[in-house]
Amino acid sequence: MSRSAHPAGPRHADVLPEGHYSAPPADLNALDPKVWARTVARGADGVVTVGGVDVKTLAEQHGTPAYVLDESDFRARARAWRDAFGTDADVFYAGKAFLSRAVVRWLHEEGLNLDVCSGGELTTALSAGMPAERIAFHGNNKSVAEIRRAVEAGVGRIVLDSFQEIVRVAHIAQELGTRQRVQIRITVGVEAHTHEFIATAHEDQKFGIPLAGGQAAEAVRRALQLDGLDVIGIHSHIGSQIFDMSGFEVAAHRVVGLLKDIRDEHGVELPEIDLGGGLGIAYTSDDDPREPHEIAKALTEIVTRECEAAKLRTPRISVEPGRAIVGPTAFTLYEVGTIKPLDGLRTYVSVDGGMSDNIRTALYDAEYSVALVSRASDAEPMLARVVGKHCESGDIVVKDAFLPTDLAPGDLIAVPATGAYCRSMASNYNHVLRPPVVAVRDGVSREIVRRETEEDLLRLDVG
Ligand SMILES: *Cc1c(COP(=O)(O)O)cnc(C)c1O
Repeated sequence: MSRSAHPAGPRHADVLPEGHYSAPPADLNALDPKVWARTVARGADGVVTVGGVDVKTLAEQHGTPAYVLDESDFRARARAWRDAFGTDADVFYAGKAFLSRAVVRWLHEEGLNLDVCSGGELTTALSAGMPAERIAFHGNNKSVAEIRRAVEAGVGRIVLDSFQEIVRVAHIAQELGTRQRVQIRITVGVEAHTHEFIATAHEDQKFGIPLAGGQAAEAVRRALQLDGLDVIGIHSHIGSQIFDMSGFEVAAHRVVGLLKDIRDEHGVELPEIDLGGGLGIAYTSDDDPREPHEIAKALTEIVTRECEAAKLRTPRISVEPGRAIVGPTAFTLYEVGTIKPLDGLRTYVSVDGGMSDNIRTALYDAEYSVALVSRASDAEPMLARVVGKHCESGDIVVKDAFLPTDLAPGDLIAVPATGAYCRSMASNYNHVLRPPVVAVRDGVSREIVRRETEEDLLRLDVG
């Protein structure tokens, strides 16, 4: 019989409060392969393992909270993207999702390119041996110093984001006696979020140069005149966590329309088109992401069709997945600290991390799943809210999820699909130390980013 540690807590479907969640899963011990990294499994003893290492061992060796990253899954996903697009296209991993030197080496070994958007990301990439020509430099306000470093290093492309930057990059390249390969980032009037895209009220954002009103055409006109620039293509990124390909369809149509106008006005066919990133992943069992080969096929067909209609040679396509590669490969391992059942509402489960290691729930109202991983349980499900240890009531990691009623302090729970935009957005709020990233592969675990220490905190505090 299942033991209930918190008899006052809400347990049954008929007493559940309003909220955004589905019915409790049939089996709380099951781990949906859609949301967990590929080598994750629950052993016969009920303990979850990843890459052949069990989570109790990981907690003992590396502490909690920790981001646990399945290296073979990361490599497999990177390869799947590269293979899906083949040799006629380029895959740039968006470093902002999660970047470390180990990740740079994996990408290099698997044949991917890399997007960076700050001097810090550029330094990380170069220091781990990514060839500069395989790096693209993004950002809406790159500093002059950052641009100079990127040009000096010889990055493969800089993605120009404003009229000022067209001039800045051209001057710096000329000063350094070189011609910099550039793409021009435009906003096509499509904004995509998860299942929907909006084709109006779209250009109201800080990125890119609007296609509307002829601004993008004017940017191309100016860039083509500058000796320091080699304009290789047009860039468009329409959003993030997208499942619906129709936003890309409209974007490709509009980008190709611009390529056609450029050909007609200047007699040049720009050789490249970058459709950005933004492909969605499963955070919960309700999400149904597409496979890289389906995405590659759809995007290639759209661009080919649009170019045929415009009588243009099909340009080389590039894409920039971040989340879709790293997101599903990691989970955050937490230890349960306190448990508060609130009658008729839900049970608050506090963990030893929170909004400092995962800001996405507070920032985007993101949905996550959670599971008890240090043991199996046959107790009844209870509606739980997983919260952190920060001084903020919005410090929520998982808004609504089911955990077993016998959950107890000291249990380990894990939140899957935290590989993207969690460590990279982590903060020191409340002087909480940022967790390590532990890579696991073939029975071996190692920290690729170590845990922050109190000495690290004090080292910065020089007052
Ligand atoms: C953020 C970003 C990406 C990656 O987005 P994902 O949702 O992680 O795939 C790609 N390109 C650009 C320009 C971006 O800003």
